[in-house]
This record gives sequence, structure tokens and C-alpha cells, in this order.
Amino acid sequence: MKKRIQEELWNDFVSMVKESTTNYESYYSSLVSWVKKHRRYFTNDILAKSYLNILMSLEPKKYIVDDPEFKLDSELNWCIRIKPTSISINYLIDLIESRLGDMVTIRSKKECPNCLHGCLRYLLLESKDEILLECSECAWTENADGTKYDGGIARMLPANKMDLQRHGIYNS
Ligand SMILES: [Zn+2]
Repeated sequence: MKKRIQEELWNDFVSMVKESTTNYESYYSSLVSWVKKHRRYFTNDILAKSYLNILMSLEPKKYIVDDPEFKLDSELNWCIRIKPTSISINYLIDLIESRLGDMVTIRSKKECPNCLHGCLRYLLLESKDEILLECSECAWTENADGTKYDGGIARMLPANKMDLQRHGIYNS
């Protein structure tokens, strides 16, 4: 990708951040719109292998957690601080994916029994409407009863508050 295009993409990204960080919902929607707007730069490979696809399909109102782990009022400064010397599409995709993830991930209080230092987040196994827990570090996945998940690759969404309540899980 040409240096000039990289710079343009980055500047466009930063101005989007500047305009959309009034609340989490609008920031979430703006990140998704930004990817759609620049879709031609993202290969299908990038989008297909990525959790991003799922994150982009969520309705922010239903999924945004009460207290995401980053502050909106320092987001612009954060962006400026992390600007890489060479901007790649992969870098931007990872950035956007992790920010969207931060806004919709509900973490359990449980530590990972596999790597012993990751914390487990809640997912919903869509086809079976079951709650799973997945490690943020090593991708260990377990069923709600703590046994190892061995159902193979399946579509998993972040579990939202309503999913947890429906399954009798109260995390606060
Ligand atoms: Zn782990």
C-alpha cells in the first residue's frame, strides 16, 4: 500500500475518532461504518478469518457493556500516541477489532485453567444457544459447567447481559 494512501487512511481514522467519541454507542457504530467505507482496502481473507465480521453485525444497543475498559475522552490522544511508523491494513483491522471487542466483552471472574493467567470471557454458541467461556490469552474454551468445549468451530458471539440472564448467570 502506498505511503500516501496509508497516511490518508490514518488521518481519516483519526478524524472519525475525534468526531464520534461522545458515547460508546456512537463510537461503536462509527468504527463499523469506517470499515465499511474503506472496505475496498480490506481483502476478503482479512474479513473472513476475523472476529471482526461478527462484531460488525452486532446491534450496539444490545451489546455494549456498562463499563468498557477504556475511556472515551482519552481515545483521541491514545490514537495519536500509538500511530505506527508504517500503517498497514492489518494493523488498523486489529486495532478496530480490539476496540469493538472491548466495548462488548463481558469478562467472568474466572481465571483460565489452561494457561493460568488469562481471564475468561463469555461467548454465546449461537447454534445451540449455550454459554461458553473463552480465554483471552490462549483461546482455551470451556462449557458453562467448566468442562472443556470440544464442539469444534462454530459461530460464537459475545454473550450480552440478556444472554447471561437467560442462562441464570449474574456476573456483577
Ligand atoms: Zn488461557
